[in-house]
Amino acid sequence: MQKLIIIKYGELTTKKDNIGFFLQTLKQNIAAILSNLPVEIKQDAGRMFIYTDEGYLELVKEKLAKVFGIHEIIEGYVDNDFTIEQIKANALALMQARSFQTFKIETKRSNKNYPLESMAINRAVGSFILKNIPNLKVDVHHPDLLFNIEIRHHEVLYYGEKIAGLGGYPVGTLGKGLLMLSGGIDSPVAGFMAIKRGIKLEAIYFESSPHTSEQAKNKVKSLARILALYNATVKLHVINFTTIQETILKNIPHEYLITIMRRMMYRISEAIAQKNKCQIIVNGESIGQVASQTLTSMSCINEVVKIPVIRPLACFDKLEIITLAKKIGSYETSILPFEDCCTIFVPTHPVINPQSKKCIEYEKLIPYADLINEAITTEEVIYLDSEKDNLEYRDIL
Ligand code: ATP
Ligand code: MG
Repeated sequence: MQKLIIIKYGELTTKKDNIGFFLQTLKQNIAAILSNLPVEIKQDAGRMFIYTDEGYLELVKEKLAKVFGIHEIIEGYVDNDFTIEQIKANALALMQARSFQTFKIETKRSNKNYPLESMAINRAVGSFILKNIPNLKVDVHHPDLLFNIEIRHHEVLYYGEKIAGLGGYPVGTLGKGLLMLSGGIDSPVAGFMAIKRGIKLEAIYFESSPHTSEQAKNKVKSLARILALYNATVKLHVINFTTIQETILKNIPHEYLITIMRRMMYRISEAIAQKNKCQIIVNGESIGQVASQTLTSMSCINEVVKIPVIRPLACFDKLEIITLAKKIGSYETSILPFEDCCTIFVPTHPVINPQSKKCIEYEKLIPYADLINEAITTEEVIYLDSEKDNLEYRDIL
């Protein structure tokens, strides 16, 4: 018997037509996240197998727990001997090493040519265990140990507990998006949810130096690094937004500051998305959260772009978002107290129901096309992964 990690795919197996593409991407993503470790990865249509040295098992499992597209992560054993005598002996050896009072044997037989049926194997192994380990009982409803045996075509698998994986789709299988990443609580969570649906993310951050500090930018970089744990790497586009914000502040009625500012952010995001082959924009907007997120505001802001804008948090309460932020590990960073460009320019009475006619009128007061062009051409690009900055970017699309 050899120890190994078994991966189950779950929802992926419903992708009948292009399952090959999904599994190949999953394998590439796993290989990338384990690239510094001594592992061997094998795969078939139903399972993936990862072999590593005993000392690396925990680390490998920890890393796999951050890979989308995995339904379950299982530490188990594999053997090529299919005889029932060997199966019984293997089960006994593995179960003797554990302490429990009640158990159930559950056999799955994907190799239908195997001469014994699953129930017969359960009975044969179960009674052998009862005979050889004293004081045990079978409990088919709530066993202390559910011991699994899988009779497959090329191997027999043995395992107990399963750890739930993240689910979702392998990153990159559903295309690429551009996340509007501020230093707040919402946008990293929105990004996480988009990544979960298989979208590879790049990120865009609008900074207004010197009104916003270097610390605010570092906070955004830290958040991008946290997303990179799930996304392999994040290409972060930093846009200098100072001139645009100052021009808006000087020329536009204050109640429309935020509306116009966000229309500019959307226009720039669309241009950066198109330049980088991102098919959608993702952001952390949540209906009703602030004046710029009423339905009227959102449509007035959204109308300046054609690209789809996906808002994973649209219908979430702030408390639900905070719970998720804590789960993915972004919350502590998000609540660090550095100003971002929106908080500095907040007007006392932002318009709640902005009119697009007025926006168009006000925008004529500023040379916004030139300003946007300037902001795009002077972008700073930073490549981040969870450990290092400025990696050589491995773009999988
Ligand atoms: P968050 O929503 O992330 O907590 P926030 O509350 O400061 O941050 P909002 O004013 O609610 O941001 O803005 C809504 C969304 O617009 C954000 O979730 C984010 O996607 C985007 N956004 C806001 N400010 C910026 C910025 N400076 N750079 C990039 N995107 C931004
Ligand atoms: Mg917000």
